[in-house]
Amino acid sequence: MNVRDDERHEKDARPALDFDVIVIGAGISGMYQLLLLRELGLKVRVFEAGTGVGGTWYWNRYPGARFDSESYSYGYSFSQEVLDEWDWTEHFAPQPETERYLNYVADKFDLKRDIQFSSRVAKAHYMDAARAWGITLEDGSQYRARYLITAVGPLSAPTYPRIEGIEDFEGEAYHTGLWPKHPVTFEGKRVAVIGTGATGVQTIQEVAKTVGHLTVFQRRPNWCKPLHNGPISKAEMEEIRKGYPELFKRCQESAACFIHTIDPRGTFDVSEEERLAFWEQQYATPGFGMWQGNFRDMLIDREANRLVSEFVAKKIRERVHDPKVAEMLIPRDHGFGTRRVPQETHYYEVFNQDNVELVSILDTPIERITPKGIKTIEREFEFDMIIYATGFDAITGAFDRIDIRGAEGEALKQAWSGGAKTYVGVLVSGFPNMFMLVGPHTALGNIPRSIEYNVEWVRDLIRFMEANGHTSADCKPEAVEEWMKFVFEKGEGLLSNEIDSWMTGVNINVEGKQQRTIARYSGTAPEYRQWCDRVAAAGYKELTFE
Ligand SMILES: Cc1cc2nc3c(=O)[nH]c(=O)nc-3n(C[C@H](O)[C@H](O)[C@H](O)COP(=O)(O)OP(=O)(O)OC[C@H]3O[C@@H](n4cnc5c(N)ncnc54)[C@H](O)[C@@H]3O)c2cc1C
Repeated sequence: MNVRDDERHEKDARPALDFDVIVIGAGISGMYQLLLLRELGLKVRVFEAGTGVGGTWYWNRYPGARFDSESYSYGYSFSQEVLDEWDWTEHFAPQPETERYLNYVADKFDLKRDIQFSSRVAKAHYMDAARAWGITLEDGSQYRARYLITAVGPLSAPTYPRIEGIEDFEGEAYHTGLWPKHPVTFEGKRVAVIGTGATGVQTIQEVAKTVGHLTVFQRRPNWCKPLHNGPISKAEMEEIRKGYPELFKRCQESAACFIHTIDPRGTFDVSEEERLAFWEQQYATPGFGMWQGNFRDMLIDREANRLVSEFVAKKIRERVHDPKVAEMLIPRDHGFGTRRVPQETHYYEVFNQDNVELVSILDTPIERITPKGIKTIEREFEFDMIIYATGFDAITGAFDRIDIRGAEGEALKQAWSGGAKTYVGVLVSGFPNMFMLVGPHTALGNIPRSIEYNVEWVRDLIRFMEANGHTSADCKPEAVEEWMKFVFEKGEGLLSNEIDSWMTGVNINVEGKQQRTIARYSGTAPEYRQWCDRVAAAGYKELTFE
C-alpha cells in the first residue's frame, strides 16, 4: 500500500464521521455555504442557536431595525431566479421583510432540512488522529465532521453594560439583539434606552413615536446622517431588477462593496462653495453616500475630516431646538465617518419632544440598576421598561463564546489573546480544517457581497482538497505573518484606527477588550479578493495539506 492509498484509506473511513462538514450559524453566510457544499455532494449539517434562519435578521427584531445598505445591494446575487422573483418594498428594508426574504431563500433551496435549530455549539475540538472536528452542543450531544465552518457572525454576541443590579429590575427589560418575538408596546410607559450606537438610534426614533416618556442614556454620541428611506413601487423594482448586473458590478468595484464609490477629488481640490454644495447634496441623498462616497481624503486628512464634521455638527444644531441638548449630541471624541455612521429618520427631532430626556452617562455615570429603574450618581429614575441597546462583542465575540481548540489543544481564545491572527480572515494557523466566514480580517462593508466571495472561496478550497485527496489543511505561520503585515499596513494613516470602536476591537463592556487591536481589515474589497484569488490560482501554496 503506498502512502496515497494510506491516505485514501483514512479518508474513506468516513463512516466514523457524522458529516463531512459542520457549519455553525444559519445566517446569510451559513445558508449560502450549506447550499454550495451540498452541490459538491458533501454531507453538511448546520447548527443554529436560534429557532429560525436569518442570523442578524432573526435576532434583531427590535423596533425600527432595518438595513443601512440599500436592500437590493444587500440581497444574494448568486441566483438569477431569486433576483427575478423577490421584490423589495423599501429602499432600506425593515427587519421583518429581510427575515421573510431569508426564509424564502431557505425554502426555495430546501435548506432547512440540513439545519438543526435550537442547537448552540458549546465546544469544537480538533482531533489530530482523525483529522476531524468534534463538536459538542450545549445539550451535550456530540458530532464529528472533517471540516468546521464558522458562520457565527461579526455582530451576534450581544453584550450588556457592566452595571450592577441588571437582574434586580422588576419591569420589562430587553436587549435589542435578543428582542422577543411577542409584541412589545410603549404606549403610556416610562422607557429607558441605554446606548446610542446604530441600533440605539433606530430604536429611539421608533419608540419615541408612541412612548409615554423616554429617557435616553448616552455615553458618547455618534455622527448620524439621514437615511431618506422610501417605498419601492412595482415599476421602480422592475427598473432595479434590470439594473442588477450593473449594480453588482459597481459593488464589486467599490472599496466597501456599497453602491457608493469614493469621490476621486480631495476636499481641498474644490472651492468652499462647491464643497458645501456637495455635502448638502450628500446629506439629502439616501444611504451611506456621505460616508462611503465622500472626498477621498475625508478619512485620512485631519483638516478634511474636521470640516465635514463641522458641517454635520451644524446640521445637528439646526435640527435640535435646545442648544444644550444639541451640544450633547455632537461627538467630541471622533470625527465624522471614523466610527460606523448610524443612519437616522427624525432622530435628532426626537429630542425636541417634551416627553424625551437625554442623560449623559459620561457626566453622570449610572451607579446601578435598581428594582424600580436606574440610579445615576446624581438622580434616581423610575421606569416601566429598560432597553439595552448596548451592541455586541464584535468580530471575535461569537468565537470566544465557543470552546474552540486546535491541533495542539490550544484554545482559540488564547491564540487570539493579543488580538486575532488569521490568514485572509479565513484560516488560523494551528486550527486545521477550520474555515471562517466573515472572520476577523475579511472585507466587511456591505457584508453579503463579501460573504458570497468568502463562501465561494471556501467551497473552492474544499473542492481542491477533495479532488487531491487531502484530509487536512492548515496555513503556514509565515503566510499569516505576511497577511497580518498587509492588514497592518492597510490600517496605517486611517483616522478610524485612532478611535476606540468595535472596528478597533474595543468594547468597554467586555473583559480584555480595552486595548485597540487590528480587529479588522481596512483595505479595499477588490484588494482582498485579488489576494485570495492569487492564493487559489497558485494552488494554495500558503497552506500545508496532509
Ligand atoms: C442590527 C444590525 C443591522 C445590520 N445592518 C447591516 C446592513 O445594513 N448592511 C450590512 O452589510 N450589514 C449589516 N449588518 C451586519 C450583519 O451582521 C451582516 O450583514 C450579515 O447579516 C452577517 O451574516 P452572517 O451569516 O455572517 O452572521 P449572522 O447573521 O450574525 O448569523 C450568525 C448566526 O450564527 C449563530 N451562532 C453564533 N454562535 C453560535 C453557536 N455557538 N452555536 C450555534 N449558532 C451560533 C447565531 O445564532 C446567528 O444566527 C447589521 C448587523 C446588525 C446587528
